[in-house]
Amino acid sequence: MATRLNPVDVVLVGFGWTASIIAQELTDEGLQVLALERGVDRATVPDFSTTHIQDELRYAVRGGLFQAPVRETLSFRNTRDQTALPMRHLGSFRPGAGVGGAGVHWNGQTWRFLPDDFVLRSHTEERYGADFIAPDITIQDWGVSYDDLEPYYDRFEYLCGVSGTAGNVGGSLRQEGNPFEGARRRDYPLPPLERSAGSLMFDKAARELGYHPFPAPAANTSRPYKNPLGVQMGQCTYCGFCEWFGCGNNSKASPQSTILPVLLKKDNFSYRSGCDVMRVKLDNTGKKAKGVLYRDLEGREYEQPAQLVILCAFAHHNVHLLLLSGIGRPYDPVSGTGVTGRNYAYQITSSVEAFVDELINPYMGAGALGQAIDEFNTDNFDHGPEGFIGGGYIALWTTGGRPITQHHLPKDAPKWGAGWKKAMSENYLKSVSVATHGSVVSHRGAYLDLDPSYKDAYGNPLLRLTFDFHDNDYRMSEFLTGKAEGIAKAMKPRSINVNKRKKPYSIVPYQTTHNTGGAIMGDDPRTSVVNRYLQSWDVPNVFVVGACNFPQNAGYNPTGTVGALAFWAADAIRKMYLKNPGPLIQT
Ligand SMILES: Cc1cc2nc3c(=O)[nH]c(=O)nc-3n(C[C@H](O)[C@H](O)[C@H](O)COP(=O)(O)OP(=O)(O)OC[C@H]3O[C@@H](n4cnc5c(N)ncnc54)[C@H](O)[C@@H]3O)c2cc1C
Ligand code: SF4
Repeated sequence: MATRLNPVDVVLVGFGWTASIIAQELTDEGLQVLALERGVDRATVPDFSTTHIQDELRYAVRGGLFQAPVRETLSFRNTRDQTALPMRHLGSFRPGAGVGGAGVHWNGQTWRFLPDDFVLRSHTEERYGADFIAPDITIQDWGVSYDDLEPYYDRFEYLCGVSGTAGNVGGSLRQEGNPFEGARRRDYPLPPLERSAGSLMFDKAARELGYHPFPAPAANTSRPYKNPLGVQMGQCTYCGFCEWFGCGNNSKASPQSTILPVLLKKDNFSYRSGCDVMRVKLDNTGKKAKGVLYRDLEGREYEQPAQLVILCAFAHHNVHLLLLSGIGRPYDPVSGTGVTGRNYAYQITSSVEAFVDELINPYMGAGALGQAIDEFNTDNFDHGPEGFIGGGYIALWTTGGRPITQHHLPKDAPKWGAGWKKAMSENYLKSVSVATHGSVVSHRGAYLDLDPSYKDAYGNPLLRLTFDFHDNDYRMSEFLTGKAEGIAKAMKPRSINVNKRKKPYSIVPYQTTHNTGGAIMGDDPRTSVVNRYLQSWDVPNVFVVGACNFPQNAGYNPTGTVGALAFWAADAIRKMYLKNPGPLIQT
């Protein structure tokens, strides 16, 4: 029997990026807000102090900050005719657990999606005709436009102190920035990071080929920065221990380095770590949430009543909670009906390693230090002759040169022994990787549902992931990889390795933690879980926030858009929902 706790106005499930933003906004409105986080408590001091965070074995190899599959996992299969098995090791993607969520150990590559990304279906039909979209591709428009989200992108970038060079300010194109980006209201808050030797090499090669390279936008601060909340961030030291690590320097934007110093001082905010939410509790009508049910680390069960429930638990967990709670009709891939779990997508990456004569010094890096081109993203080029939808950016990142996991060797180098050591010493300082980061279109056969066989420690069915890249994605990736190879060759290297994405999708090698869909937004309750304000169509006092809202995945990393959506939803709650609680869009 669950212990019933004192009610609050708002309960947030999870305490990562989205929950922190929403908590800050709704406490400003005077609401009593509580965040429940399944993982441990974490603060910059002492958890990320530079004396121990740079332990590659503990954090990069053993995943010290990630969700531990021994506590929570999901089952996986490529296609519906296979039997899904539980993932005993999280390889391909590594969600966060603990205060700050994956915002603690992300890189900080902070992109805006392009205007066309938000209207992918209608734009594609208009430019190429409806027949261009294969029948099993289920892409759809978002229900919000780039212009709707632009002020909220701006808020996220200024919150984080993003370093970059604007390409389009108010419609006026800027040299050195991304000429393809949507119009922004002002420059980035900080100038770009210092260029690495690899970035300069990429820049030169890309320009020779007629492209327009630009510094990738980075939530790693190029200068000391005080954000609009008055939180001071330090200047990045290019320590190279960014991705998969916390930042002891308060230079990588995270909830801890941007919001929590203000939020945690508020009397109307509280959080509890070690609290695993298992259900949204609905009333007898099934149309109203009464709060959530959770267990603490000892397995004791609690009911936390709340007026408003906001799921901020990352893409997978948001969908899992919706399915366990019976919110939204589960998606059925056979009939193509139902919504919860529909349009799961991911990202498709590849790389071309280049072995050069110049010294690159890769250990001086930062999580989002890179130079990129956007010529082949979204619809920045004519897809007609190519016959696929989507695209991606191509970039050379200098994220670091950690000894265990960050080094490149030519294909023919020995795999161990004295020969391996020799090859390593010859190549460690003289290699770069040109990476492609591509979109994945949503597909009828890619979805999330409840596993019929496997259960977690509490007897709840595991979330089951059914996913493979499809022909469209492989062709797109092949195309992008060819362009990356062209840039790598223009660097005049000694040799290159071309690493194409292999079939089928494998959960073993790390790719990205850019899992999207399953609780998508839209303007039609028959094809979306939440409306344009991220409010559940079925249970209006439940909002769902995160990359699970993306109807398909774009070619960019997601968190710029996830942050913008969190501000957007919070604004809708503040300005509309609180004045008149109920559906914000009538059906
Ligand atoms: C290694 C890595 C590198 C990345 N780099 C980039 C990058 O460079 N650029 C980019 O755009 N994105 C990047 N990302 C993705 C980025 O971290 C996420 O998009 C972002 O953190 C999502 O914010 P969120 O609030 O949705 O989820 P999170 O920040 O992950 O927070 C969700 C929180 O909810 C908690 N939770 C889950 N289920 C429950 C439950 N049932 N009960 C209670 N709590 C729960 C989790 O423990 C977690 O703390 C990266 C991710 C990883 C893992
Ligand atoms: S590279 Fe910069 S932002 Fe990243 S962890 Fe090091 S100091 Fe922090």
